[in-house]
Amino acid sequence: MSHNTWYQLSRGLFYLFFPRLCVACSSTLRTGERVLCLSCVTQLPETDYHSLPENDTVMRLAGRFPFVQATSYGYFTHDGLLQHLLHQLKYANNQEVGLYLGSRLGTALKNTDWAQDIDLIVPVPLHRSRMHERGYNQSLLIAQGMGKMMQKPVRADLLIRNRQTRSQTKKTRAERLKNMEAAFCVPLPDAISGKHILLVDDVLTTGATIEACALALLTIKDVRVSVATIGIAV
Ligand SMILES: [Zn+2]
Repeated sequence: MSHNTWYQLSRGLFYLFFPRLCVACSSTLRTGERVLCLSCVTQLPETDYHSLPENDTVMRLAGRFPFVQATSYGYFTHDGLLQHLLHQLKYANNQEVGLYLGSRLGTALKNTDWAQDIDLIVPVPLHRSRMHERGYNQSLLIAQGMGKMMQKPVRADLLIRNRQTRSQTKKTRAERLKNMEAAFCVPLPDAISGKHILLVDDVLTTGATIEACALALLTIKDVRVSVATIGIAV
């Protein structure tokens, strides 16, 4: 028996005992299906914002910092499919979900003019203590999925989170922003100077984190920023 046949046989046995399941409905995935079964893929609440210059992600961030373009892959609703997937990614150690959603967003973006102009993809960083807790940065996984499809470099070392920002609901917007701004820093300014950076996060809610990250990046000479998130909370 050839090496290849052995490989196929052992892989077949592996999936017989450990079938790959759809993350949403737990049905057994067929050959070629990844993370979601075909029927769940069609349920993904896609926004198609990448082809809409004036979308709700743009509106939510407009006037807060200058950016080239902003988009979100899908609608994030309470108990919705995207909330379930991002929960699996953030709290159930399902890292494949991040790569998968990132590759779907990257596929949507790769042929748009503004996304072709991107030089670097930079994920919103996690604080060291959170990173230690979770073991990985979910936004980095999303960025890696995007980078592969868009054929753009992904850099997680260009934006650093100095401290964990706690819930800030009782503070005013100005106080929140001041607190957030100091939370991020750019350790290698020369590496981003003159670049168009695509900032990537999992969900856009108030946009405070994205805003603070963008403002840190925009302190560097001739930097332009665009934003992409998987979900937009609606
Ligand atoms: Zn399914």
